[in-house]
Amino acid sequence: MSELDTLQEVAKLGKVKMTDEDRAYFKAGMKTLCGTELIFAGNVINDKDLRKQFDPEDLDFMNKELGRQAGAIWKRLLRALKKHDFAAVEEIIRGKRGGSSEEAWKPRRERGKQPTLTGQPPLGYLNSFYCPICGKHLFSCYDADIAPDRKDGFRFRVASDWHYCSKCGTMLDLAEWQQEETPAPAAVVGADEELKFDG
Ligand SMILES: [Zn+2]
Repeated sequence: MSELDTLQEVAKLGKVKMTDEDRAYFKAGMKTLCGTELIFAGNVINDKDLRKQFDPEDLDFMNKELGRQAGAIWKRLLRALKKHDFAAVEEIIRGKRGGSSEEAWKPRRERGKQPTLTGQPPLGYLNSFYCPICGKHLFSCYDADIAPDRKDGFRFRVASDWHYCSKCGTMLDLAEWQQEETPAPAAVVGADEELKFDG
C-alpha cells in the first residue's frame, strides 16, 4: 500500500481525537526517534491532508513534542561534534543499528561537602546525580542508602523503567541504581513461604 493510499484510508475514518493514553504513548515514542525518523514523523503529522484529520489541540501537542525531541537531538549532535565523534553523529541522525545500551549516559555525580553523622548506620555523604547533558537534577541519596553491606538489606533504588532525562530526552544508564531483573533468591523477601516441598 502506498503512502497516498494509507492517507486516504485514514481520511475515511473522520477526525481523530487523542486520549490521554494516546498522548503518553506518542510522547514516549517520540523520545526514541533519531533525526531522520523525526523529520519523517514531522512530515507525516503535518501532511496537508492528514492535518485535517487531527484535532488542532492534538496537532499542537504533537508538534510541541516534535520540537522537544528535535531540541534533544540537537544537543546530542552538538556534543558529539565537539568531541569529533562522527560515528556518534551518524547514529544520532540515522539511528542505531543493533544494540541499544551504548548511547546511554551515566549521570554526573556530585558529593556533598560534609558527611551527615546522624542515622543508624550514619547517613554519610549526600550524593547528587545530574543529567550529564543538560544538568537536570535526577536524584540524590546518602552513602548509607547505597551501601552494599547494610544489615537491614535496604538499598536505594530508582524506577526500573526510567531510561531518559525528562528535560532533554538523553538516554540515561541508571542500571546501577535500578532493581536487577532477577534478584538472587536469598534476597527475595518471603520466598521461603512461597515454596512448597513434596514429601
Ligand atoms: Zn537532560
